[in-house]
This record gives sequence, structure tokens and C-alpha cells, in this order.
Amino acid sequence: MATNVVDVAIVGAGPYGLAAAAHCVGLRSIVFGPAMSTWRRMQPDMQLRAIWDHMTLHAPAGRGTLAEWMAETGTPKKEPMTPPDFLSYVDWFREHYVPCHDGAEVVSVTKVGDAFRVATTTGVWSARALVVAVGITPFPVRPSFVTVEDDRISPATDRDRFDDLSSAAVIVVGGGQAAVEAAAYAARAGAKVTLLSRSDLHWFVNRRPKEHQRIRRWLYRLAYPEQGVGPPVINRLVSHPDLYASLPGQSRDRLTARSLRSGASPWLERMVKDKVDIREGVAVSTVEARPDQLVLHLSDGSVIGADRLLLGTGYRFALDRLAFLDPAIRSRIAIRDSWPVLDRAFRSSERRLAFVGYPAEGTFGPFCRFVRGASFSAVRVTAGLRTALR
Ligand SMILES: Cc1cc2nc3c(=O)[nH]c(=O)nc-3n(C[C@H](O)[C@H](O)[C@H](O)COP(=O)(O)OP(=O)(O)OC[C@H]3O[C@@H](n4cnc5c(N)ncnc54)[C@H](O)[C@@H]3O)c2cc1C
Repeated sequence: MATNVVDVAIVGAGPYGLAAAAHCVGLRSIVFGPAMSTWRRMQPDMQLRAIWDHMTLHAPAGRGTLAEWMAETGTPKKEPMTPPDFLSYVDWFREHYVPCHDGAEVVSVTKVGDAFRVATTTGVWSARALVVAVGITPFPVRPSFVTVEDDRISPATDRDRFDDLSSAAVIVVGGGQAAVEAAAYAARAGAKVTLLSRSDLHWFVNRRPKEHQRIRRWLYRLAYPEQGVGPPVINRLVSHPDLYASLPGQSRDRLTARSLRSGASPWLERMVKDKVDIREGVAVSTVEARPDQLVLHLSDGSVIGADRLLLGTGYRFALDRLAFLDPAIRSRIAIRDSWPVLDRAFRSSERRLAFVGYPAEGTFGPFCRFVRGASFSAVRVTAGLRTALR
């Protein structure tokens, strides 16, 4: 099989991978993977917490913005944004500003001399540099109470359909957005749902003033320049990735913990109220996988059974989840405090291999978890690789 040669191969065609690809001007680049698969799995009526303008990407010279898409397609602004809105925009961005996209998945990356040999489900490529942009979903935490492999146990964000749960008894574990969303959608599909949360559920408050309340909107924008990344002041600090990167480790951890405080959006409250059995202040001790059902032993001494267990128990970076990376490459990627060590151009200790998106959270903070960080990362990572490839 002939090998195709590029300067930069990008693994993952989500917002981060596509934004990086758009900025590879002057480099031969390709971005691999099904486009926007994380977003295509989301329920179409999900309401985004981020305000509309903050969901924009940028191509070079300030092109490719939401504003440009709206003007070109005649799409009006609509708050709250939903996944179909964002998908339409990013599909347009990809068609206009991403030079080369291949929907095949990357199955292995090995090093041959100085180059990366990238094997996909359909071909083989040689790349001088590699950008890993696989998002957050490969890294769900598998809690210690799950000691068995069982198809009935899965991450809460893994499914795009809930109708197969219509007559099932479902337990969802977790108290954050992903867990509450999964509980709401399973209940809507007709499942008998129990939501188990170690602490009391925290409901985020929507303080956003209405469009006509101009002064209040202005004050609100001052207090909340970013949405979904914590209260005033914290949200400003984490909106400056370079500032975050310059802080000592302990301060970074405290900022991240406060800005990513677990909670659920207010629109979900009416979907779960009286429809989901919510049990707060209770933890799971063990799970037994019996042939006919899953049996959960809880910290309050009670025992409950279920047909399905959905885990909304958070995310944690782990290099071994990137099975496509050859172990020899993985062994050269330095890890500190469980995150890959990255320089200010997102480059790891493996020469010419960079991480953008969630794996960069340890260095640049929670900004890198959200669409808001995609353009900053794209500019920086491509500038760094351009220098490295000279
Ligand atoms: C349920 C949910 C709701 C969210 N809501 C919001 C929100 O409202 N606002 C916000 O800003 N952020 C939200 N996020 C955070 C989300 O991480 C970002 O919005 C954004 O998707 C991050 O972009 P990304 O490109 O890093 O990752 P992703 O969008 O996850 O894209 C990663 C891509 O990598 C691909 N991939 C993985 N492995 C391979 C491989 N081996 N080969 C090829 N391709 C591969 C995947 O198919 C995927 O398309 C949400 C996340 C989840 C899970």
C-alpha cells in the first residue's frame, strides 16, 4: 500500500482538531476521524450553557466565525444553543476552512525514523508531526466499585439513544451534568430511573438577563465573561490559559476544582423532578453482576437492583486509553500529576507530538475542556509545529 506523506496529522475531527487543521496554513495537513462524533451523540434538544458567541471557532485572519456563518447562511442567533445548531456551524466551518479531512479512524501510530506512521482503517500515512485531539470521552473514570466487565455497565455519555431503555430499571451514578442528563433522557424514554449522588445535587442558576435588559446584560457580561467555568473572578482567571499555566501546581488544582464544580443545568430540573428517584448522600460500595440483574450495595446499607448502570463519574486523563499510540511512543511522553507535560505550544516530551483539548487541561486549565479554548490552542499548536518543522 502506498504511503501518503504530510507535515501534520491530526487525530480527531472535533472542534479542536478542525480548528487546528484550519490553522495549518503553509503545512501539508490532514485531520482524521468521523467529524464531530461527540456532538452527534448528544440529544438534539440539549441546551448548552455556553452563550452563543462563545461557541465560535476561528480560521486564520479572523475568518470562519459564527458571525460569518450566520451572515452567509441567514441563520439567526438563538439562545440557548442546541447541538444541531453547533453541528450545522462546524460542518460549514469544516467545508470552508479545513483543507483535508479523512473520516477514517486512526488505529495505530508508530515511529519510523523521525516520522510518525499513521495507520487508519483505510490507509497509511507518514507525518512529520502529530496532534492528538481526541477530546474528553476516551477518559471516563471507572470507579473502584466497578470490578467486573459487563455490557450492562457503561459511561453515561456513551449513548446517543435511550429508547432501548424504555422498560428497563436504570441506575445512574453521579451528581454532575452528564449524570443528570442521562437520568433525564432515560426517564423520558420510559425507564424507571434511580439517580445516586454522593452529595446533594447542585443546580446551577441561570442569571442571564433577557435580551432587552441592556444594562443588566452588560453587568452580567462583566461578571461572567465565560460561562460554565465558575463564579466571578475564578472564571476570569481560568480564561487566561497562559496565566493558569504559570501558577504553581496547588493553585492550579484549587482553581480547576472550583471552576469545574459539579452541578446540573436548571432546564434539567423539571425533567427529573418527580420522574427520577433521586437519592442524595449515598455512595455505591460494590456492584454484583448477576445473570438476571446488577445488584448495587450502597453506603447506607441498602441494596438495589437494576438492568443497567450508567456512570457519570467524571473524567481523568490516562495515557493508556490512547491505545492507538505505540507503547514505545507512550513511554517517551512525560507525565506529571497524571497529565502529559506540555510546553506553551502544547508539545509533549515526544518530539513533534502535541496534545490539544482535554489532555492539555493539566497545563492550561479548564478552558481546554470547552469549545472556547479551541482557537487559542489551534493558533499556538500550529505556530509551535511550524517552528519545529523548519
Ligand atoms: C455530553 C457533553 C456535553 C458537552 N457540552 C459542552 C458545551 O455545552 N459547551 C462546551 O464548550 N463544551 C461542552 N462539552 C465539552 C467538549 O469536550 C467540548 O465541547 C468539545 O467537544 C471538545 O472538542 P474536542 O475536539 O477536544 O473533542 P471532541 O469534540 O470529543 O472530538 C474528539 C474527536 O476525536 C475523535 N477520535 C477519538 N479517537 C480517534 C481515533 N483513534 N481516530 C480518529 N478520531 C478519533 C472522536 O471521534 C471525536 O470526533 C461537552 C462534552 C460532553 C461529553
